[in-house]
Amino acid sequence: MTADLSREGLERLLALEDFSPVAAAADRVRREAVGDTVHLRALLELSNHCRRRCAYCGLRADRRDLPRYRMAPEEILAAAREACAAGYRTLVLQSGEDPWYTAARLGEVVAAVKGETGMAVTLSCGEMGEADYAHLRSCGADRYLLKHETADDDLYRAFHPGSSIQERVGCLRALARLGYEVGSGFMVGLPGQTLSVLAQDLLLLKDIPCQMAGIGPFLPHPATPLAAAAPGSGELTRRCVALARLLLPQSNLPATTALGVRTRGERNDVFSYGANVVMLKITPNAYKQLYDIYPAALPRTDIAAQRRALEEQIRALGRVPL
Ligand code: SF4
Repeated sequence: MTADLSREGLERLLALEDFSPVAAAADRVRREAVGDTVHLRALLELSNHCRRRCAYCGLRADRRDLPRYRMAPEEILAAAREACAAGYRTLVLQSGEDPWYTAARLGEVVAAVKGETGMAVTLSCGEMGEADYAHLRSCGADRYLLKHETADDDLYRAFHPGSSIQERVGCLRALARLGYEVGSGFMVGLPGQTLSVLAQDLLLLKDIPCQMAGIGPFLPHPATPLAAAAPGSGELTRRCVALARLLLPQSNLPATTALGVRTRGERNDVFSYGANVVMLKITPNAYKQLYDIYPAALPRTDIAAQRRALEEQIRALGRVPL
């Protein structure tokens, strides 16, 4: 099938009654462009401190009831060594925008992880100046994830006090200039979002252009201003992943952890809609539930056993874990 991937065309595809031909096309493009491999990434949440107040996020700065933690560099290194021994080739270091973890401190951590384990390092630590991103790149960071969350100017301002989509896109373009593999992404089902906005979100991924895109459903958190909003749809999220695959055939598209919160089946289904990456949390048990961006009951961390179990699940889907 030849799909119309203009903004209007994407909007029409998202609204289709029968999406199965588009999902099949995305699965075919995925197989031809990136093969059957599913890349497993170890995700370590190193700090839940954050200076921002994103309206949907349980880590927002004005949430007072959440105990805050910050992993010490030696703790991060210990988890990285364990992930490497378990077979991971990429470590994703994620945090809120924590002013203690300056680019200088984070750079030392990145250099130590790379030096000791040789793993690729992906950072997901929010907005910084171009000089900070450049420093982290010089310390060995390979990739940077910074979801734009919504490309619509008004929605962006409504959900991100004191910030704008232009600043966000400015950061993404700076990362691309510095030679990072750049990842963005967005939430599906934010209050006020339309199919036209989702089409805009998809086209922004192509415009950057992104090598990775994390697309997950909005999950309302009870301790946020959006507590009463309805959650995003798993099916619409999968449709967005399929269209991202058609727009960016070579990209890495994770089956996001948010998609697996309600049922594991929801996350598995997305592998037939173009996804080829999965991230597994390796955050130590003392901190794991405190990285409370959205409500989720998380299993206790056992890095090696959970990786083996995930490999089996991926093989059962007919795919090849790496
Ligand atoms: S989404 Fe990120 S930047 Fe926004 S409050 Fe949550 S952790 Fe902070």
